Amino acid sequence: MKIAAIRTHLLEHRLDVPFESASMRFDRRAHVLVEVECDDGTVGWGECLGPARPNAAVVAAYAPWLIGQDPLATERLWAVLYNALRDQGQRGLAVTALSGIDIALWDIKGRHLGQPVSVLLGGRWRDSLRAYATGSFRRDGVDRVADNAAEMAERRAEGFHACKIKIGFGLTEDLAVIRAVREAIGPDMRLMIDANHGYTVAEAIRLGRAAAEFDIDWFEEPVVPEQLSAYAEVRAGQPIPVAGGETWHGRWGHWQALQARAVDILQPDIAGCGGLSEAAKIATLASLQGIRVVPHVWGTGVHIAAALQFMAAMVPDPVRVNPVEPILEFDRTHNPFRQAVLTRPIEPAGGVVAIPDGPGLGIEIDRDALAEFRMPEA
Ligand SMILES: [Mg+2]
Repeated sequence: MKIAAIRTHLLEHRLDVPFESASMRFDRRAHVLVEVECDDGTVGWGECLGPARPNAAVVAAYAPWLIGQDPLATERLWAVLYNALRDQGQRGLAVTALSGIDIALWDIKGRHLGQPVSVLLGGRWRDSLRAYATGSFRRDGVDRVADNAAEMAERRAEGFHACKIKIGFGLTEDLAVIRAVREAIGPDMRLMIDANHGYTVAEAIRLGRAAAEFDIDWFEEPVVPEQLSAYAEVRAGQPIPVAGGETWHGRWGHWQALQARAVDILQPDIAGCGGLSEAAKIATLASLQGIRVVPHVWGTGVHIAAALQFMAAMVPDPVRVNPVEPILEFDRTHNPFRQAVLTRPIEPAGGVVAIPDGPGLGIEIDRDALAEFRMPEA
């Protein structure tokens, strides 16, 4: 079996109501899928985190190193592709594009061997995961405090045990949102806050100290991801556990953060950190320090499926009677093609997501949806 073709599928949906995090405005949902086809007809699917069109360009740039190669040689191909752009590509798009390819190659390996990727990664510890709901962005034209509180009350009613809200818009407004959401969801539902690196160190410490009384499980990306010593300062200066990692790339990027004691919870993104191959190494590095790993997930059902396969195989740390189970990030903001790209949607029921057990990622792609949501030419 040889790799015969690499294709990307650019998907887009223009939003009626734009929304924003502290660092990014969304007037559309746009994601890119990677399709790798083999000469025997086997096809594997992957997805890249980040800007769709630039990711697609880098995926295409990798093609000469892939065509004619054995798709089962995931570790060898990862090293060859990484080395091809290494001098200018140790992080950023070179790694996010590589991530989508790596996921597709693992999908092919699973389909070829008739096994779920989670089995090939070492075996399944679990067949389902509790999901936490991500949302609560700032939407145009509404009162953010009331809007966020109502949204998270809805997530509670849907059965989610935990939710994550967006902050980083200013201390006073953020604290009002946190208070209102905690009141709306009650004392038992778990609550996390995500600043999308919108704060300075001093602001993050002030926010963390003031927000701690609302029983927050983690404080995500308080400051920009390059400032590793600043992460350590935020950790030391306020009581909420600090999380981060969605924009750290490769084992080296995550190892630097671990060595800097930047976070209590590491959040590698399977579609951004270097794919399933690299995420496994990053999880091993985190285990050297007892750092909890909760993968970041943001994209279509392909990305969700890759995260599910990876998380099915995550070794509890420590192994004990009632281990700390991983939880799946589930974006609940509007994206009509998130599930439409799959022939069988992966949706939480009562806040719990079943992990597909079919070969590869355990999903099939709906090509009509790819056509329906195809991004217009630039
Ligand atoms: Mg985040």
